[in-house]
Amino acid sequence: MSTAGIDSRRSAVWWQRIRKDFPILDRRIHGKPLTYLDSASTSQKPRCVLETLQRYYERSNANVHRAIHLLAEEATFEYEKARGKVKRLLGADDPREIVFTSGTTAAINLVAQSYVRPMLQEGDEILITHMEHHSNIVPWQMVCEQTGARLRVAPIDDRGVLDLDEFQRLLGPRTRFASFTHVSNVLGTVNPVREMTDLAHRNEVRVLIDGAQAVQHGAVDLAEIGADFYAFSGHKLYGPTGIGALYARGDLLHQMPPWQGGGEMIESVSFEKTVYHAPPHKFEAGTPNIAGAIGLGAAIDYLLELGLADVARHEAEVLEYGMQVLSELEGVRLIGTAPEKASVISFAMEAAHPHDVATILDREGVAARAGHHCAQPLMERFGLPATTRASLAVFNTREDFDRLAGGLRKVNEIFG
Ligand code: PLP
Repeated sequence: MSTAGIDSRRSAVWWQRIRKDFPILDRRIHGKPLTYLDSASTSQKPRCVLETLQRYYERSNANVHRAIHLLAEEATFEYEKARGKVKRLLGADDPREIVFTSGTTAAINLVAQSYVRPMLQEGDEILITHMEHHSNIVPWQMVCEQTGARLRVAPIDDRGVLDLDEFQRLLGPRTRFASFTHVSNVLGTVNPVREMTDLAHRNEVRVLIDGAQAVQHGAVDLAEIGADFYAFSGHKLYGPTGIGALYARGDLLHQMPPWQGGGEMIESVSFEKTVYHAPPHKFEAGTPNIAGAIGLGAAIDYLLELGLADVARHEAEVLEYGMQVLSELEGVRLIGTAPEKASVISFAMEAAHPHDVATILDREGVAARAGHHCAQPLMERFGLPATTRASLAVFNTREDFDRLAGGLRKVNEIFG
């Protein structure tokens, strides 16, 4: 994410101390200190989030929006307060534009089925990019299958930079919707989402931005980006699993039919007619993940207290160091070298398959991810079955990349 103009206020030692906020980082793995470099898969949780979950279950656990007893009131109050925190994180106008979902995947499916599917006719097009996670490919393929629409894919170059001219060219008269990632989970590429949104809007095409790898790494300002929909997952943002959110512009949410039916989303039900609640509750059928939302709220407080501008600057520094260290290692090919890059370093090694690399790293206490990262078309674009991926969080420092490099030297010794 952009760090231009950000004034550093915190030292490397200060960031080193952040580790203490994350109890799991005290663990030893195969007798070695844990070096966690897999936050793009899921982040670790700071103590304040763990304590919030425990406190909620010990003191306030009840269902929301239903009973009038005190516990239910407290649970409802905290759940809705968490919605306000998501609004603040994203710079949305109104908490009613925030729908809690189980994560990014559910948010994208909701938009695909409720907003996009009803408008599609045979021959219409949906535009995505070549660097999407499966969660931002498959839901669109499904609506295409259901309606006869076509998926169009904007290409990327060998550095992993989107071809913006092609993106613009592909926004044609049949394009009905565009969906693209803010930050690539494999390449770390930060897309020019403001420009992409502008281009789409000029063609009267609404957009969804997949923010799963973005919100936790730098300030997102929806007013600035102008997105119609924005999705993210709590578990990648220091919050619990099974919770995430969809931002949707209020007027669009009001047009959308509900996707799933059940309790919580209705005002009244008879066998003749059901009246739905207004958004966002219309889209939250069934008992929601109450503890998850409240835990996510605590994670957002934590992140906002650290200061997202400072987080972005710190992570950018560590990322630059990591890229430097890895580029100097023998037999390492970096995948994803876009000038605008955040939080993720993918690489291939001449000496060994990514799974062997990750196994050896694990013996050194280094948790990195090996695989296709739910982005098989992107792997194919780079002619690889898989990569090894190191991804950052606020608690990572240069020393983590020194340990990673040590592990990779071992890989070269063993397989070289
Ligand atoms: N989009 C991107 C860019 C991701 O990195 C991920 C997860 O890795 C997802 C979507 C899916 O997120 P979730 O599995 O939390 O729904």
